[in-house]
Amino acid sequence: EIAGMRRTQGWVPDQYVFFSARFSEPFADVRLLGDKQAVLTFAPDTETLTIAVGLSSVSAANARLNSVAEVPELDFDAVHARAAALWREALGDIVVEGGSRDEMVNFYTAQYHTKLTPNLMSDVNGEYRRHDQRIARMPQGGAYYSTFSLWDTFRAWNPLQTLVDTTLVNDMIRSMLDMYDITGELPIWPLASGETGTMIGYHAASVIADAYLKGIRGYDAEKALDAMIRSSNINKKGSDYYTAQGYIPSNIKRESVSCTLEYAYDDWCISRLAAALGKPRSEVELYEKRAMNYRNLFDPETRLMRGRNRNGAFMSPFSPLKWGDAFTEGNSWHYTWSVFHDPQGLVDLMGGPDGFVQMLDSVFNVPPLFDDSYYGGIIHEIREMQVMNMGNYAHGNQPVQHMIYLYDYAGQPWKAQYWLEVMNRLYNSRADGYCGDEDNGQTSAWYVFSALGFYPVCPGTDQYVMGAPLFRKAVLRFENGKLFTIEAPENGPGNRYIRSASLNGEKYTKNYLTHGNLLRGGKLQVKMDRVPNKKRGIAPEDFPYSFSTERK
Ligand code: CA
Repeated sequence: EIAGMRRTQGWVPDQYVFFSARFSEPFADVRLLGDKQAVLTFAPDTETLTIAVGLSSVSAANARLNSVAEVPELDFDAVHARAAALWREALGDIVVEGGSRDEMVNFYTAQYHTKLTPNLMSDVNGEYRRHDQRIARMPQGGAYYSTFSLWDTFRAWNPLQTLVDTTLVNDMIRSMLDMYDITGELPIWPLASGETGTMIGYHAASVIADAYLKGIRGYDAEKALDAMIRSSNINKKGSDYYTAQGYIPSNIKRESVSCTLEYAYDDWCISRLAAALGKPRSEVELYEKRAMNYRNLFDPETRLMRGRNRNGAFMSPFSPLKWGDAFTEGNSWHYTWSVFHDPQGLVDLMGGPDGFVQMLDSVFNVPPLFDDSYYGGIIHEIREMQVMNMGNYAHGNQPVQHMIYLYDYAGQPWKAQYWLEVMNRLYNSRADGYCGDEDNGQTSAWYVFSALGFYPVCPGTDQYVMGAPLFRKAVLRFENGKLFTIEAPENGPGNRYIRSASLNGEKYTKNYLTHGNLLRGGKLQVKMDRVPNKKRGIAPEDFPYSFSTERK
C-alpha cells in the first residue's frame, strides 16, 4: 500500500487531495520522481495487477477507509458488477421507450450526465473539510457535497433533483448552509472546500426556495431564509447599487444587466419563501418589489434589455449582438428573456403577445455576430453558434435554455413544439454529442426534461411548462413509490406537434403540468400530429405562472 497528499491551488486555494492505494501484488521498490510521480516496481512475472485508489479531502487514513468501504476485495469483476447494478438502479428512475436508437443514446447519455455531479466531499466516517479548512463530521447518514455550478444548474438540473432525489437535495442544502456558517454568504460556485465566486447571481436562493415549496424540508428553513436575504444584500457583483437604485449601473460594473435580471428572479424566490414561512407582509413586499427590478432595464425602443448608466440614461452605443460588457457570456438577445418569474410582465413590456412572439422569433432569425475579436480572448460559446446555425439561439450556453418554452406564455405553444427540434439538431449520439458546455448536468437536464415533454422555466413555482414528448412512452418513478407515465403513441419523425392531451383520462388544455400532477402519479396521454393545432393552449387561463398575472 502507498498513501500521500497533494495540495493544489487550482481555481480555489488549498484543495487537499489525500490518496490511498492498495495493490493486489507486492511491489519490490518505490522510486520518487520529484514530488509528483512515483515508480513502483513489481516482480517480473506479475501478469495481472489490481489497484484500488481511495480519495479524501481530510486524511490518507480516511482515503483508505473510503477505499476499503467501496472496494473491500481487490476483485475487478466484483467491483464492475456492483457498479453496473448501482448505475442500473440510478438510471431506472426515468425509463423511456419508442424512440430511434440515437434518441435513446442521447437520452440515457444525458441522464447519466445528470448524475455525475455534485461531488461527495465527506468520507465514509462523515468527516469533511469545511470552508475554513477545519475538519468536521456530518451526523450519521448525512453527506457533504461541493461542486455546485449554481448559475448553470438552478435552471433545470436542480429542479430535476427535486423530482428524483430528495435525499440529495436535502444534503446539498445542508451543505450550503454549512458553507454559509463559515463565509456569511450562501455559496455561488463552491469547489472542494472553497468558493470560486464564478458566474453571477445568488441562485442558492432559487434552489432552496424551489425545494422548500415542493415539500423538501430536511434543513433549517428559517436559517435558510436569513442566509438568502443576507446573501442578496452582499453580492460582490453589485448588490449595493442594485438595492440603492433598482439596477446595477453599466458605467460602473460589468455584467450589470445579467446580474440585475438574475438578482430580480432570485429576489422573487426569496419573496416566495418568506411568504411560505409566514413572514410579515412588509418583508415579503420588499422582495416582491425587488422582483420587478427587471423592468428597469427594458428599453422600449429596441424592446430589449439594455444597460443603463448611473444617471439613468441607456448605454450608448448599444449592440444587442455583442457579447460581454453588461452581459455575462452572452448578449442582449440571450438575456432579454431572463425574467423566469414573470414572462407576462415581459409580454406587456413588449406590447402584447404579438410583439413578444415577434421578438422570440427574431432570436432564431437575426444573424449572430461571430467575430469575437473584441472580447479580449477566445470565447468558445460564440464560435459554437456557427455550428448550431440557429441565429442567436446559443443553446451551447445556459442563459437562453428556457427561451423556447416562453411561446407557451403568449398563446403560440406550437412554436415551442416546433423549436424543440433542438433535441435532434443540437444533440447527437457521437463523440461531439453536445453543442457546447454541458456544465455539470444542466444541458443534459434540459434534454431529459424536454424529451419527457415539459421543462421547469421558473423554479420556485410548482409548474413544468409543456413542450412536446420525444418518446412514445416514458415512465418516471418517484421515491414515494408512484409512477407518472407519458404516452405519445404517434410519436416519430415529423409528428412534432400536440393535437390534444389528456391527464388521467380527462381532456387537458393547460400549457403546464404541476409538481403535484407528477408526484401523485398518473398518466399524460398526448396525441401528436404533423400540423400544429393552433387552438390548443391559447387561452390565458391555460398559460403558465407569471408574477404580474398573479398580482392582478
Ligand atoms: Ca456555460
